Amino acid sequence: MTETNQKPTLSFEVFPPNSQVGTANLTATLDQLDGLNPSFISVTASNHKLDYEKTTIDLAKYVHDKLKCPTMVHMPAAYVTKKEVDDVLEQLEKMDIHQVLALRGDIVEGYTPETDFKYASDLTRYIKQQKPNFEVSGACYPEVHPDSKNRIDDIKHLKDKIDSGCDQLITQLFYDNEAFYRFQEECAIANINVPILAGIMPIINRKQALHVIENCSARLPKKFISILDKYKDNPVSLKEAGIAYAVDQIVDLVTNDVKGVHLYTMNKSDTAKHIFSNTASLFGLETSVEE
Ligand code: FAD
Repeated sequence: MTETNQKPTLSFEVFPPNSQVGTANLTATLDQLDGLNPSFISVTASNHKLDYEKTTIDLAKYVHDKLKCPTMVHMPAAYVTKKEVDDVLEQLEKMDIHQVLALRGDIVEGYTPETDFKYASDLTRYIKQQKPNFEVSGACYPEVHPDSKNRIDDIKHLKDKIDSGCDQLITQLFYDNEAFYRFQEECAIANINVPILAGIMPIINRKQALHVIENCSARLPKKFISILDKYKDNPVSLKEAGIAYAVDQIVDLVTNDVKGVHLYTMNKSDTAKHIFSNTASLFGLETSVEE
């Protein structure tokens, strides 16, 4: 296998904080990411409609203006009307932000906000119709979306998403690269030919690991479970091993010509920077970063 000139992209995800500690973490993270030149930074949306503009849009503006970095805004279809989408798209255009991650959004039991959309593909089609110059990304699930009947149905719906105008896909987190490679093959067979960015979330503490195990359908490989078992009483080693595992995953993905890596930073600056300084050259980025 030889190296090609086409380097994969590296992007980061941050979320709007909901506490003072969270704000301090996020500010530190953004300071650390400043100057690293990622392909883009994406800003998540809460799974409640509350304060979408004051949280997601305000943070996106801050990222865009302070870091001078291409910025992507997450938009959950299940919580927005056409009118609200129109307003947000106008605002984004004024801010010079032209990237949206169109999602269905997590459904919260007992919470039924007004919406004009059912699936992410409905929102994707609408955004492309209103603003053809916007780049619209979509979510995908190498280990199948939990609501799907089976893999075939999930891939069929993903193809609908692409046909509705989705330009690029970002995966749910996964810890088994083989699952990602199999998913890539299935996409190719289904004629899904847009870039697929691999979503990587380093595990840095036990609480987060348990959350992932409970809430995501990601399979945990034996090597990963051994790390969790061995360092269950040693948070420092667990964090180091978790970061090393993520670096290892990224090296393998890039070696196998992944189109891009999207790092779920969890607003943790030291983790993002550590991973960056260990992998930057793989993405054709400057590595002269102090740790
Ligand atoms: P869809 O693509 O709409 O798919 C949802 C389910 O419906 C799937 O099972 C699919 O197979 C099925 N389906 C699709 N179309 C049809 C159809 N026509 N008929 C029948 N079934 C169909 N959530 C948030 O709330 N905020 C965020 O910021 C956020 N960011 C995310 C970022 C990434 C990279 C990822 C992977 C997920 C993110 N999520 C976020 C979570 C996401 O909203 C949930 O996983 C949600 O359950 C599904 O979103 P989707 O866009 O994949 O939905």
